Amino acid sequence: MAKFVLIGSGLAGGLLAAYLGRRGYEVDLYERRAEPREGNIVGGRSINLAISTRGIHALEQIDIADEALRHAIPMRGRMIHDRFGGLHFSPYDVDPKKCINSIGRAALNTTVIEAAQRYSNVHVHFNHKCTDVDIDPAVAHLETANGAVTATGDAVIGVDGAFSAVRKSMQNAIAEFQYDESYLPHGYKELTIPPGPDGSWRMEKNALHIWPRKSFMMIALPNPDGSFTCTLFWEFEGPRSFATTKTDGDVRRFFGEEFPDAVPLMPTLLDDFRNNPTGSLVTIRCEPWFYRDKVCLVGDAAHAVVPFYGQGMNAAFEDCVVLDECLEEFRENREHAFAEYFRRRKENADALADLAIGNFIEMRDKTASKTFRAKKKLDRALEAALPGIYLPLYTMVTFTHMPYAAAAKRARVQDSLVYATVFALAGISVGAILWFLCML
Ligand SMILES: Cc1cc2nc3c(=O)[nH]c(=O)nc-3n(C[C@H](O)[C@H](O)[C@H](O)COP(=O)(O)OP(=O)(O)OC[C@H]3O[C@@H](n4cnc5c(N)ncnc54)[C@H](O)[C@@H]3O)c2cc1C
Repeated sequence: MAKFVLIGSGLAGGLLAAYLGRRGYEVDLYERRAEPREGNIVGGRSINLAISTRGIHALEQIDIADEALRHAIPMRGRMIHDRFGGLHFSPYDVDPKKCINSIGRAALNTTVIEAAQRYSNVHVHFNHKCTDVDIDPAVAHLETANGAVTATGDAVIGVDGAFSAVRKSMQNAIAEFQYDESYLPHGYKELTIPPGPDGSWRMEKNALHIWPRKSFMMIALPNPDGSFTCTLFWEFEGPRSFATTKTDGDVRRFFGEEFPDAVPLMPTLLDDFRNNPTGSLVTIRCEPWFYRDKVCLVGDAAHAVVPFYGQGMNAAFEDCVVLDECLEEFRENREHAFAEYFRRRKENADALADLAIGNFIEMRDKTASKTFRAKKKLDRALEAALPGIYLPLYTMVTFTHMPYAAAAKRARVQDSLVYATVFALAGISVGAILWFLCML
């Protein structure tokens, strides 16, 4: 059996190790951080995430979905908070059972790593930071507290996130390697709404809360302990921005003006704002994702996307399913398996990157408008009237396994048909009114 060296035991790394372990491969998984049970897992990333159909399907394949979702909180729709404290709820789907789930990153990471460790052929090594990879032969160089070590396998898989060291090594070694990174002018900061005195949630628990404010927004996802994790997405620079908001007074004024209903629920706002890091939001596109039968990239290492569709991890988990399928289909030819995995995933990762940026504009700006709410109602009416024929884009992305590129294409076709019909009906009505007036 082949031996895989995996770099990075984040969400996708742990899951992929479990998939490979199940197939009987030898797996050595190296992670730069300490053991997650020692509490060193989040490190500036989001504390909770939304997991939906694609991610859950990937967990189901190795029978850990129930275990992972035990403490997840279903979110059935968006709760929009306007500037005056008004609330507007918009369900995600006509079917009230279709929901996305708020899940803790650390708990999910622990679940996938433990699933991998159940296989005796999987070995996990924490506190090992990959510095670079000799892509041919597949040798990873790692730093540890006791000095440098090397890890050799039949192939190295980079599951080491958006700033992947494995991808960097491919970039240095492969002349035709293409790489593009683009940063949004917005950063993000996590803030907290603690539980109520009796441990209860101080806002609607089964919703994803959004405070859309045109060029920026805040969102909040529920946690099992009764708290909410809020994330403010805001411009780094500009007259009102992270850069110009320096004093406690600036923070108080900004939140009082923009999120007046949230402020009384955020007793630690000033400390959180001062102490929590401001993260950046990057989209990464690169190709190829593999080198011969020696190296392959999975998850954010291959395709980091901005978080506004709640799909980065879901897509990374879907990568694991597809790579596992390809390795099984082309058991005798690993290069072919890597190439087929890349072919099946690349256009979908590109489509998701575009969808995620488009959804930022929708969430921060359009969700506040009456037109948006009317379009969502029309979507739901069409979906109910034409079941299985008309599927809103959000439904296809979040609640189906349809490839992202196919979902985006189908939504464009549906939209043109709907708009053409609306215009045609409007034209017929105007024509009928004119005819009626002429007859008078
Ligand atoms: C604010 C925010 C909110 C998000 N919300 C959602 C959401 O709601 N739903 C969703 O689906 N996705 C969401 N995402 C995206 C999601 O976090 C990522 O897509 C997902 O974490 C990708 O998993 P990964 O395993 O590829 O990378 P990561 O989770 O980043 O894991 C990479 C691992 O590699 C390790 N590593 C890195 N470099 C090295 C090295 N040199 N040597 C050894 N180990 C290394 C890291 O320590 C880490 O453990 C969000 C992202 C952000 C930033």
